[in-house]
Parts: sequence; structure tokens; C-alpha cells
Amino acid sequence: MGKRVLIIGAGGVGRVVAHKCAQATEAFSEIAIASRTLERVERLVASLPRRALARRVDADQPDQVAALVRELKPDIVIHVALPYQDLAIMDGCLQERCDYLDTANYEPPDVPRFEYRWQWAYDERYRTAGLTAILGCGFDPGVTNAFTAYARKHLLDRIRTLDIYDCNAGSHGKAFATNFNPEINLREVTAKGRYWEHGRWVETEPLSISEDFDYPEVGPRKSYLMFHEELESLVKHFPEIERARFWMTFSDSYLEHLRVLGNVGMLRVDPVRFQGVDIVPLQFLKALLPDPSSLAENYTGKTSIGVLVEGEKNGRTKRYFLYNVCDHAACYREVGAQAVSYTTGVPAVAGAMMVLEGLWKRPGVWNVEQLDPDPFLARIASMGLPWHVQER
Ligand code: NDP
Repeated sequence: MGKRVLIIGAGGVGRVVAHKCAQATEAFSEIAIASRTLERVERLVASLPRRALARRVDADQPDQVAALVRELKPDIVIHVALPYQDLAIMDGCLQERCDYLDTANYEPPDVPRFEYRWQWAYDERYRTAGLTAILGCGFDPGVTNAFTAYARKHLLDRIRTLDIYDCNAGSHGKAFATNFNPEINLREVTAKGRYWEHGRWVETEPLSISEDFDYPEVGPRKSYLMFHEELESLVKHFPEIERARFWMTFSDSYLEHLRVLGNVGMLRVDPVRFQGVDIVPLQFLKALLPDPSSLAENYTGKTSIGVLVEGEKNGRTKRYFLYNVCDHAACYREVGAQAVSYTTGVPAVAGAMMVLEGLWKRPGVWNVEQLDPDPFLARIASMGLPWHVQER
């Protein structure tokens, strides 16, 4: 029997999640979408091939989330609003006894430091309540965690080094724009870099380390070392990993804009008094930049994202790259979204299906690498994200 899903967030990723849930008629019998701006939810609902409910919610307020869950009685909440709402939505789900899944870990609004500790602290309460919470089930984090678990299960007896490579080789034709929420994206990119080596974190200046990497279907691209949230959970759950790093490509033009915006103070996250009101420069900048979902229509090119693992198999050193390539224009034709939203939204829906089908239904709070990667990776492939393994 189909299940009821409540999607919170109606941005780029929310759009993909809603369309993919709507396509999965057998898995989801009822769909409800809630977000801060009702008109946006209504526009999204109107674009779907089948009926869905539209609601307004301020998901910063646990009481509002709980009231919504009480009213709609979903079997699972897929949270694709912003990381700031993670804890309030986890609280609301706990109160009304509903499973939970998100794609990004909690970050306090006034400190650009995303960490899992706040959400891991819910483990005991979710366990006791018999509820499942899946953290970070987008592409990275999400599929990258499942690739790592798959490599450990099938390809290597031990993982020595892990490098996650994320390339968006697409072009949206705008002078400067971010591919997902600008505030979250710019906070992430301008933060200090961090990687794991021999049991400790090594901190680097923002985007100060780069190397060329040969991306499937894209070719060699300069990639910059930065911290990304899945590193934290992966080194915790695979303590054998000696070094773990994350790399992302940026165009020279993007980096130049970033440098100038940073120099003039537009990336600050603390309030600045302006004509009698407090303004957070980064939030103001977000209001000026293109809405990420508006980039989709004219986006061309591909994303190529994967995990390079090196380790031992039967005493011999082996190296594999597990990856997916996704085409922006093809995503737009299918669901009206670009590939960055698509590669996030498809795994979120596949993860929710894993919970609802009982394959990932385990009381507690889980990162994706702690769960069986096989059915999940098979599902994302059948839902539009085929993936491949290359021996390198
Ligand atoms: P958008 O900015 O496009 O959409 C965010 C949505 O959340 C909007 O609909 C917004 O409402 C809503 N929202 C914001 N605040 C609240 C609130 N207080 N209550 C209710 N709704 C709220 O972001 P994206 O769709 O691009 O990204 C969504 C999430 O996915 C983010 O957390 C992002 O970090 C994550 N992500 C994860 C990736 C991964 O691979 N794991 C990759 C890319 C993104 P409104 O319309 O009013 O603004």
C-alpha cells in the first residue's frame, strides 16, 4: 500500500523531490508539500502530474512542524528546506512520531560551521521512540556515502584513502549565480578547508589547495580542496581511513566574483546596522542573486561527481572511482530542474523509499554509509542516476 509523504521546502531540490514522488505512484499514495511561501508551494503543486496538498509552514518553529505532521499524518517527512531547520523538523517529527530524512546537516544561523553533533544527539530519542532519521541523503552527502559503503562492502577489504570529487561542468549563462541556496553555498565555499589525515583534521585557508582531476565525460578540471560534511561521518564510521578529502571545481570567473564579494564584506553573516535596520550582508546578497531554480531552463553541460577510493583487496593495492554523470538539460526536460537539484532530490526520494519499504527502517539517527548501499544504489540508478565503477 502506498504511503503518505510530507515534503518540506519548495526550492530547486523540493521541486525534484515532489516530481519524483509524484512519478512513484505505487510508493506514495498521498503527497503534501509545505514551505515558508505558500504561493511557491502552490505553483509547484500545479506543475505536478497528480494531486498534492499545499501548506504553509515556518519550519523554524517546531510547534508549526508538529501541528502540520499531526494534521497530515505522513509516514515520512522529507526535509529539503534549509539546514537551519533540521533540528526544529526533527523535534516536530519526534513529537508526532514520524520518520525523518534530510539532505544537509544542521548549521546554526549565526556560525558558519556545519557539524553532525547536534543531530547525532537525537539518536537516543529516535531509538526510544522507534523512529528512523536519515541524515544527509542527497548526492554529496548521500550517494557519496553510499559509494564509500559499497566500495568497502564489495571492492576493498580496507579503505586507505578517500577523495570525493565534485564537478559541475555546466553553464547557466549568468555572470554569477549559485547552484543551490546562495547563502548555504557561499558559507560553505568561503569556510576554511579541512581534511582528515592520520587521525586528525588538518585546516587549510579557503580554496588554497588545488589539483587537476580527470572527470568522466568532462575531462581534466582544476579542483579545490574544501571541507564537506560527509567527511565528518565517513571518518567516524570507517576509522580505517587514513586520509579523506573533498574537492570541488570552480570557474575562474566564479572565484573572482567570490574574492571581490568577500573583500567588500558582502559575504559576512553577522548583522550590519544600515539606515536603522540590521542587515546580514550575505542574506541581502541572496536577494540580489538569481534564484537557483531559475537557472534550470537554459542550463547546459553536465555534473560529474564521484568517490575515489584506494585500499587493499586480497593483499593487493586497488583504486576505484565510483561516479555519476548527470546532464542539466535532460533534468530540465524531465522535471524542470537543473542537475544539482536533480542529483540531490532523486537520492532523497530513493532514501525515503528505503525507509518506507523497511530496508532502512531502523530506530535511531543514521548517516547513509551505515545502511545497506545495494538497494539504495540500485534504486537511484533506476530513478535517473545511473552510476559506474572505474578501476584507476
Ligand atoms: P532553495 O533555496 O532553492 O529552497 C529552499 C526552500 O526552503 C525554499 O522553498 C524556502 O522557502 C524554504 N524555506 C526556507 N526557510 C524556511 C522555513 N523557515 N520554513 C519553511 N520553509 C523554508 O534551496 P535548494 O532547494 O537548492 O536546497 C535545499 C536543501 O538541499 C538545502 O538544505 C541544501 O543545503 C541542500 N542541498 C544538498 C545537496 C546534497 O547533495 N546533499 C546539494 C544541494 C543542496 P521560500 O520559498 O520562502 O524561500
